Formats: sequence, C-alpha cells, structure tokens
Amino acid sequence: MRLVLLGAPGSGKGTQAEFLKARHGCAHISTGDILRQNLKDGTDLGLKAKAFMDKGELVPDGVVVGMVRERLLREREFLMDGFPRTLPQAEALEKILEELTLPLDAVLLLRVDEELIVRRLTNRRTCRACGKIWNLLAMPPNADCPECGGELYRRDDDAESVIRNRLSVYREQTAPLVEWYEKRGKLRAVDAVGSPEEIFAKAEAALGQ
Ligand code: AMP
Repeated sequence: MRLVLLGAPGSGKGTQAEFLKARHGCAHISTGDILRQNLKDGTDLGLKAKAFMDKGELVPDGVVVGMVRERLLREREFLMDGFPRTLPQAEALEKILEELTLPLDAVLLLRVDEELIVRRLTNRRTCRACGKIWNLLAMPPNADCPECGGELYRRDDDAESVIRNRLSVYREQTAPLVEWYEKRGKLRAVDAVGSPEEIFAKAEAALGQ
C-alpha cells in the first residue's frame, strides 16, 4: 500500500500509521521523526531544522524533499506521515513517485476539530524507550509507558503557544492540499474522533480494505 496521511498536527496521523503498518506491513515514513532523530544526533540537517521546529514553523521545502527522496529510493510500499505539507512538496512528491513508477493508492485525511486537537496535543506524551504515543487523559497520573515501562516525555513543540502556531501553519500551508488531492481523485476522508481503534476501523472502511 502507498498512502499519504493528511491532517492537522494532533489529528492522529502517527497513531494511525502504527495501526496501518501493523496491518499492511508497509514502511512508516514520518518526516517529523526523521527530523527529530537528526536533531538528537546533532547532524547538519538537524541543526538546520531546529530553529523552525522550535517555533512550530515548517522546515524549508528543499531540505525535506531531499530527505524524502532519499528514503523513497529504498521503499516500494509506504505510509507517508507529515509529508507533503505544502503544495511545492506535493508537486515534488508526485514527480518523485512518477520517476520511480510508484503511484499513490490514496490520501487519507483525518478530520478533527481544532479545540480537540489542542486538548489532545497538550496531553500527548511519547515514550523515550519505545517511541509509542500516549495521551495522559486516558491514563492514571504519573504513569510510565504502559507498553514497556519507559519514561514518557512531552515534545517541546507540544507547548500550547507552539501548538497554536502549528495549527495556523497547517491552515495556511497544508490545508490547500485537501483540494489538490481531491481533484486528483485520491482523497479519502474520515472523522478522526473516537478511540484509536474506532478511527482505524473508519480508515480501513474509507480505504476499502
Ligand atoms: P510532526 O512530527 O509531523 O508534527 O513535525 C514536527 C515538526 O517538524 C513540524 O512542526 C515542522 O517544523 C517539521 N516538519 C515535519 N515534517 C515537515 C514537512 N513535511 N515540511 C516541513 N517541515 C516539517
């Protein structure tokens, strides 16, 4: 399966990517994860990206497109999470996939109300050990990772002021992709409200699986 996951920050793209990966066995390509790994490793790419990420702004298209191109040379089936986020990125992706003769099956749009997103993101925690994503609202206080016992941490860009900025960046730069993919007949939309399992069931139905 070759799929793009589209949706605002906090719409559940990462969580649904994990479900889809477990079911369909394709690679999960998250540009945010790749950038955070580069930051952690102190690479040139990470240093370039840091100032943008700290403010909730987008890293320049050229940097991200190069990163994705390199990764796509190694995959035949993938779930793209957090990319494309601008029209030039969508155009670049279309070209790369044409060159590699890997047409997209669909673009899954996760629709969620903004206030729910702010609530989700301020309570989002990630496990330092296994990388799984959790929500404090659904857990006992001071809990560690229910899966592996690892320490949970809040991403720096999940502070409320940064979240508001990320949402306005989404509205201005990423939301136009909905119409762009709709015109190409690729868009499948689901209301991403409910438990992760319920949303996954809706996603599978929308994708005709
Ligand atoms: P995410 O984990 O997808 O929410 O991404 C975290 C941050 O990484 C974003 O707020 C951006 O600063 C940066 N980022 C991730 N993907 C992209 C992309 N496709 N284009 C530009 N910046 C990105």
